[in-house]
Amino acid sequence: MTTTDWLYENFDPAGSAIGYRVTRKLDEVQSPFQKIEIYESTDWGNVMLIDGAMMVTTRDNFLYHEMMSHPALFTHPDPKQVVIIGGGDCGTLREVLRHSGVEHAVQCDIDEQVTRMAEKYFPELCESNNDPRAEILFDDGIAWMKNAAPGSLDIVIVDSTDPVGPAEGLFNRSFFESCFRALKDDGILVQQSESPLVLLELIQAMRAEMGKAGFDSFQTLPFPQPCYPTGWWSCTLARKGGRGFEFREADAAAKTFETQYYSADIHKAAQVLPPFVAKALDAD
Ligand code: SAM
Repeated sequence: MTTTDWLYENFDPAGSAIGYRVTRKLDEVQSPFQKIEIYESTDWGNVMLIDGAMMVTTRDNFLYHEMMSHPALFTHPDPKQVVIIGGGDCGTLREVLRHSGVEHAVQCDIDEQVTRMAEKYFPELCESNNDPRAEILFDDGIAWMKNAAPGSLDIVIVDSTDPVGPAEGLFNRSFFESCFRALKDDGILVQQSESPLVLLELIQAMRAEMGKAGFDSFQTLPFPQPCYPTGWWSCTLARKGGRGFEFREADAAAKTFETQYYSADIHKAAQVLPPFVAKALDAD
């Protein structure tokens, strides 16, 4: 590879691609579940791909990790017990543990190799892995959630790969039923929900499956994410019992930890959906 090499992920559904100028391949491992590759880029730091799909870059992962965690943690009245399904790069775990009220955060990724690669090439994402409140497991999140004690969790964050391969079962009714059972009455489920620009049908289908599982309030929050297809991504929150998504705005504005993207104002702004998204999701 020369310094002029470009690394692309082609995204067929949109007929587009994401590309980085890379200087060398740093590592590659074929785990029992997927192929993990790490490249060094000229402008985006290190880049992790799983089965050819961009997962994390040093430069822009904060957008995703902060939006997957803080909106839910500042919406729940007092989150103490948090579970992350997937999330093996440990960036979401780090953000969750910034909340001092969190007593226990489990990260359950199916693939230990993702975490080992993150420790080596994205050490800043793993800086909270030794926090005594963190429990890092390597197991299938579908099975883990099935066996979780009913009514034991405040927040479940599904930080998964796309709905193919081992992550396919993290997007359907049966998995969401397990989440519904494991969550307390005021609990919140968060799922990464792909691109609102080209995968709106997937978001609609996901919300429908969550609804069949018993959830009755949904909130999709879009945010920029240059390393994912179309550069525009989203997470979807779900709750039970008719509870809405009013967030602890004063607490978010007075938070004692630093963030790079998330703020109380960004949280508020993210709740305003563009008309074409609101129409498709039947939301205001
Ligand atoms: N943010 C990325 C995105 O949206 O493209 C995904 C991050 S990556 C850390 C997602 C993780 O989900 C991977 O490490 C993968 O091993 C994990 N994963 C996929 N299927 C899983 C399952 N059934 N149980 C637990 N983890 C799973």
